[in-house]
Amino acid sequence: MVMTPARVRQQRQKQLQNKQLANQQRQAATLRANAESEEAAEPSGTSIRQAESAASQSLQLCSICLENQKERLFFPCGHVCACGDCAALLQAQGSPCPMCRTPIERVINAFL
Ligand SMILES: [Zn+2]
Ligand SMILES: [Zn+2]
Repeated sequence: MVMTPARVRQQRQKQLQNKQLANQQRQAATLRANAESEEAAEPSGTSIRQAESAASQSLQLCSICLENQKERLFFPCGHVCACGDCAALLQAQGSPCPMCRTPIERVINAFL
């Protein structure tokens, strides 16, 4: 069988539609499950949970530039709150840990 470009396109489109359909069904199922479990837990849980997930997302970001992932640990206080750039900057300036003001003796690579 010869796969003409038109045929290939058609097949791709069909696969794509199938995938989208499957995604939609999955999303609907997830939403239903979420709605049920949240109603069971507490009615006002949705906004709290959303805030929590937003907070945990921002927890992953450097608290200084709020752009890069946190990737440095300050020793001795142990806070992981800065990306490589900001940690290097703090250390170069001789600034203390922005979380607890403990002087930074060393900056250690952190793997989250
Ligand atoms: Zn940063
Ligand atoms: Zn600290």
